[in-house]
Amino acid sequence: MIVFDLRCGQGHAFEEWFASRADYDAKAAAAAIACPTCGDVHVTRALSAPRINSGATAPAPVGPCGLPACAGGACQAALPQ
Ligand SMILES: [Zn+2]
Repeated sequence: MIVFDLRCGQGHAFEEWFASRADYDAKAAAAAIACPTCGDVHVTRALSAPRINSGATAPAPVGPCGLPACAGGACQAALPQ
């Protein structure tokens, strides 16, 4: 599965899941994708990169020491060498 950020002709942004890029292309060509807000079928892909649903969650941001708690910048594990 793949999700695309889409935008309708009225400017509403929404996400839609597709089996593949080709699935999106086919549905877009057939005007089979409708905006959930206004029903507009003039839908285009937004510029953001698609995300692949690999079944894994996105990794948490980590600090320089590799601990997620340090992602904010102040490393909690800065021990004397
Ligand atoms: Zn819309």
